[in-house]
Parts: sequence; structure tokens; C-alpha cells
Amino acid sequence: MKITLLGTGTSQGVPVIGCSCEVCRSVDYRDKRLRVSVHLQVDGKSIIIDSGPDFRQQVLRERIRTLDALVFTHEHKDHTAGLDDIRAYNFSQHKDMPLYGEERVLEQLKREFSYIFSGIQYPGIPRVELHPITEEPFDVEGIRFTPIRVKHYKLPVLGYRVGDFTYITDANYISEEEKEKVRGSKVVVLNALRQEPHISHFSLQEAVDLLEDLQPERAYLTHISHLLGQHREVELTLPDFIRLGYDGLQFEV
Ligand SMILES: [Zn+2]
Ligand SMILES: [Zn+2]
Ligand SMILES: [Zn+2]
Repeated sequence: MKITLLGTGTSQGVPVIGCSCEVCRSVDYRDKRLRVSVHLQVDGKSIIIDSGPDFRQQVLRERIRTLDALVFTHEHKDHTAGLDDIRAYNFSQHKDMPLYGEERVLEQLKREFSYIFSGIQYPGIPRVELHPITEEPFDVEGIRFTPIRVKHYKLPVLGYRVGDFTYITDANYISEEEKEKVRGSKVVVLNALRQEPHISHFSLQEAVDLLEDLQPERAYLTHISHLLGQHREVELTLPDFIRLGYDGLQFEV
């Protein structure tokens, strides 16, 4: 399985519009963070988790020519705003795009993209096929996804384990029971917003503590704010098995 981090930034991205802090002014390409998303290439299938506002730019950058399905973690705009751009795949692949998400998440997509679901097949609108999921494992094009329930302050969000890879974003709580589903993963991607605690995201220290408990072989942090600090400097403070993710990072699991 080949994984590509399409975006590793928090909801505003990095740099932040109008900000002149040292992170936002950094010339290090690893300090340029689009909104979070990840691409999985597994058994000949191409699957993306979340389609944020930078979706178009991300799939062009990584030359993702085919897309078999989109899976959503939750309904926040930084994870869904780019949905309209799946039209390109509708045209090139001549099929509807399967979307996987919890009922609540799919309902929110219906509200935010009402023209897609109006029943009026206006030429050129995105064509989708909805697949409601629960906390039970499900298959996407024959690939097994195991949901990991996490909390984003009060909002229930799903992380996913696919084989030995686990992807969790927008969390600041995971139960002991759900941790068991993650254990044994070789690589974990986990959100870490900033140095200071936050109401709905793990801070850097909270993410490090959780990863030290989960003990994957490698871990990458994502959903990063400009308040975390510069990539180069923050990495020096981390245990060896934990690295900061950056946009375009690829690895095999
Ligand atoms: Zn988010
Ligand atoms: Zn800044
Ligand atoms: Zn969120």
C-alpha cells in the first residue's frame, strides 16, 4: 500500500492569510500546508480520505489520474469543501463517485451541496453514490476499512485503519477500547494542532503521549497550525519514531 499525504494543515492552512509570523514567512516547502487529506493506493485501487478546499490542487499536484472512492472522517468544511471537483473523475471514468461516511456526514453533504442531490440532473454536476457507514468495518472497492471512533470535542469523528496503516485526524479523545483497534499498526498518522492545548484537537504533547502508548513503528503528525512552529525546529524535539507530516510525503506500508 502506498500512502501520500495530500495536505497536512489545519482548517486555515499554512501560511494563514494575512499572517506574517515566522512559520507563515518560512521558505521551507514543508511549512506550506494545504488542508488535510490522504491518498491510498492499495491493490490497484485509488482512494482518498476527505476532500477539503484544496482537493483540486492536491490531485493535480500528485497526478492522481483515477479515483475509485472518497471516504469522509466528518463533515467540517476543511474536509468536504472540494467535493464539487470530483466532476472531473465522473467525466473521465464514466461513473458515479462512491462516497462513504456516517449518515450524519452524508446528510450534511446533502445540505451543503444541495444541487448535487436535487434530483435535477443538470448537465455537468457531480454524480455520486452514497454509502452510509457505521462503526462496523466496511469494504471500499474490496479494501477493508475499520473505523476508529474518536471525539473532536463533542463531535464523533471516524479515523480509519486499513491493513497496518491507521489515519486519525480532528481528534482530541480516543477510548481505551478504540485504541485496541489501532494497536499493531505499523504506521499511524495522527493530528497535532499546536503546542498549547485546544478544545477539539490534540496538542503536540498529547499526540506524542498517545503515540508512545500506541507504539507504532512510525508515526506522522498532521492537521498542523502555524502555531506549532517551524517544521525543521519542531522535528528536533520529537522522539525518533514520530515525524511531522508534510504535503506530498509518500511512504509504503
Ligand atoms: Zn479539520
Ligand atoms: Zn502565521
Ligand atoms: Zn473538524
